[in-house]
Amino acid sequence: MNQIELKNVTKRFTTKTLGTITAVNDFSLNIKKGECFSFLGPSGCGKTTTLRMIAGFEDLSEGEIHLEGKAVSIKDKNLYVQPEDRNLGMVFQAFAVWPHLNVFDNVAFPLKVQKKSKAEIKERVELALKQTNLDKQAHIYPSDLSGGEQQRIALARAIVVNPGILLLDEPLSNLDPKLRESMRFEIKRLQREFNFTIIFVTHDQSEALALSDRMLVMDKGEIIQVDTPENLYNKPINLFVHNFLGESNFTQVDLQDGKVYAKGDQEQEISCNIAKKHLVKTLATRPSEIEINKETGFKSIIERRIILAEYTEYYVKMGEQTIKVQAPHHKFFEEGEECYLKFINPVWYDEDNESLSI
Ligand code: ADP
Ligand code: MG
Repeated sequence: MNQIELKNVTKRFTTKTLGTITAVNDFSLNIKKGECFSFLGPSGCGKTTTLRMIAGFEDLSEGEIHLEGKAVSIKDKNLYVQPEDRNLGMVFQAFAVWPHLNVFDNVAFPLKVQKKSKAEIKERVELALKQTNLDKQAHIYPSDLSGGEQQRIALARAIVVNPGILLLDEPLSNLDPKLRESMRFEIKRLQREFNFTIIFVTHDQSEALALSDRMLVMDKGEIIQVDTPENLYNKPINLFVHNFLGESNFTQVDLQDGKVYAKGDQEQEISCNIAKKHLVKTLATRPSEIEINKETGFKSIIERRIILAEYTEYYVKMGEQTIKVQAPHHKFFEEGEECYLKFINPVWYDEDNESLSI
């Protein structure tokens, strides 16, 4: 069964300065029970608006939303279930913990709203605090806790109601990198333990790649591609997706007599074994997926070398452009030295920036 189902969901806002804008456009999506699903896209592309419609904080302009097999928003029928009746837990970007309540009372809040008994509140809050490693801080006030601990209060408050679905809107963006990593781990552990269905919203690609079973990349209110992290990374449908997931070189190419050349170079053919070779315009290669060696491949010259902690970075000439290559330290080249490049997973794009490789 689909746990979360969006059918042709559209949201328009009418603003004084811009007139009517379409924040979310004809969004259709199915998320399965127990899936950790990420929305990835640049700021302003409609991630939060989509999440708010699922949560019930925002009405739809068009379309339908079903949660756990039950209709919660249907525009045509004027059907609209209140947020508190949607069985959701939520953590938002600007996390709100109440400064005048200690950790226990912060987490107990949603249960008090639901008018649960004192005994039940105590039992469930203690469990939620244990699950988020806050059990020793129950009587401390948020101002005496770190940013990471405060965000864990928000997480505990989201899971204390036993939700089937967790909506997390950039919950880690206010934390430092180390804490982010441990929170990521924590969220994944909770998901495995309780089989929550999670929607995780982020503009951070590595966060999405690390957490998701499946994810979508969106732009300007539209879904561009939905797939597993591996497939999105290795088989992006267009240049936008490619560019959004990891670093890449984009080499402009020309075709002459059926052969592909880097722009500005008429001598050395680039090997290209795709079916629609006559349409190629851009070659995309990731710096970490180019093998540099002294024998075979695309012949080039090292323009610049930068030694970094994890790898050595080489800037090498390809036609009129310079591309970046990351290689392990034991393969060492000097600036000015001749080298050969082997492209491991090259992706070719046409003039409309659509992939020709899949
Ligand atoms: P994201 O979360 O991906 O950064 P949002 O969903 O917050 O994007 O916003 C999507 C678009 O909708 C933006 O152009 C934003 O300015 C607009 N928007 C969001 N909420 C409102 C609102 N309440 N009124 C008018 N415009 C809004
Ligand atoms: Mg947002």
